[in-house]
Amino acid sequence: MGSLKPQKPHVAMIPTPGMGHLIPFLQLAKCLVSIHGVQVTLFVPASETSALQTLLSSLHLPGGLTLINLPTLPISDMDTDLPVHLSITVRESLTFIRSSIATSAHPPTVLIVDMFATDAFDVGDAFNMTKYLFFTSNAKVLTFIGYLPRFDQEIAGEFAELTEPIPVPGCKPVRVDDLDDYFRDRKSGGYRFLLHHARRFNEATGILVNTFEDLEPQMFSALKDGKLLEQIPLPPVHAVGPIIRNPAPLSSENECLTWLDKHPPDSVLFVSFGGGGRSLSAEQMVELAMGLELSRQRFLWVVRPPQDKVVISANYVAESGGPNDPNGYLPEEFLRRIKGKGVGMVVGGWAPQVEILGHAAVGGFLSHCGWNSTLESIVHGVPVIAWPLHAEQKMNAVMLTEDLGVAVRVKIASERGGAVMGREEIERMVRLVMEGNQGKALRSRMKQLTDGAVSSVSEGGGGSSYCSLAQLIKKWKL
Ligand code: UDP
Repeated sequence: MGSLKPQKPHVAMIPTPGMGHLIPFLQLAKCLVSIHGVQVTLFVPASETSALQTLLSSLHLPGGLTLINLPTLPISDMDTDLPVHLSITVRESLTFIRSSIATSAHPPTVLIVDMFATDAFDVGDAFNMTKYLFFTSNAKVLTFIGYLPRFDQEIAGEFAELTEPIPVPGCKPVRVDDLDDYFRDRKSGGYRFLLHHARRFNEATGILVNTFEDLEPQMFSALKDGKLLEQIPLPPVHAVGPIIRNPAPLSSENECLTWLDKHPPDSVLFVSFGGGGRSLSAEQMVELAMGLELSRQRFLWVVRPPQDKVVISANYVAESGGPNDPNGYLPEEFLRRIKGKGVGMVVGGWAPQVEILGHAAVGGFLSHCGWNSTLESIVHGVPVIAWPLHAEQKMNAVMLTEDLGVAVRVKIASERGGAVMGREEIERMVRLVMEGNQGKALRSRMKQLTDGAVSSVSEGGGGSSYCSLAQLIKKWKL
């Protein structure tokens, strides 16, 4: 009698909307399928954004990876807090996901969800699946959020009233100013949803984190020490990163890359504030434009519409421009001058960031410090001017500047008070990173991190992240 061929483990993955969550989920899915021989079904949140459509259409899906598009939901802007929006989107999709799994010919046995999708653990329980969380930020942020339920019980007032940084076990204390705005109001939707998910983290069998052990060595030695986990109720934590999008074989027609081809190595500053979430105020965008010009450095800037949509002068707002048209938000004179001199390029909305950071001409990255952007700058050895806007970006900026020494951070007098960073200060920061010895020192420290990042995911070299993932999959195969 012939023996039955063992079936591949089948993993269902549930990300939340937003490129910063979806991109690492897609990349992890591809890695599980192509490198580790697992079958994956990934539920893609509904989105009409052109960036997502471009990303999906450029994907070369390996056999074994199935994408299921979730239906569009009648959700309006119910709350400006990101955790609320992401969480509700997942909750509203659970019925669809449940029936999709119920009718699967080879039902998944492992479930991997986003940090804002822990409500999907109920689906995992219904089908007796082994549940994991894929945390798309770093281990320090994970530990902080994991500690939140306990800290929430211990403190009485608002976080903003704390006079000392928050003493999170295993990490450097976290300054209250480095937390997102919803931590200032414990009744806010953002805070309540974050707490809700943090309370469910422990239902997972393990947490996969998009980081690598050499990037956060103290954090991982603390996490491996049983004493920390006595204080913070987290399941075992596995560093599996950096998981970033692989550069696509872009056509030589791409305007950003052909523009970069004209410039010498390390001579262009790339400026981007991420894939969504927040952007600068209209006034701040103008100061940034002027500061970049004053610095006399080359730059490539991905411009998104200003946060406040304030019309500061008829000159700056061209009604004819679409929502992502830089002509709509930047002084005409500025755009004309930089084009004339060939020193800068401004693109609207979206650019191929990974390919740009990997281009030899790029020598600095003015970034909002989203965690994917941070990992991408590490993998490509590009030093950072950290300009965090919201979410956990300020904590990431602290890591890059104070812990790793690979970035300088803009100092805005009162980030919450709407203060604006002046053009002279922007000019100074840009020069600091792009010229002179401090920039060289940042770049050389960044290159050391690059080596660690590359070797951690190396299959042949037995990298720590590669091995963590391989060991998990071995368990799933059993
Ligand atoms: N991204 C891109 N082109 C853009 C803007 C963003 O490819 O013009 C990608 C970027 O490379 C990263 C992701 O979108 O992979 C943004 O994630 P991140 O965590 O940095 O920031 P978020 O958008 O979540 O704030």
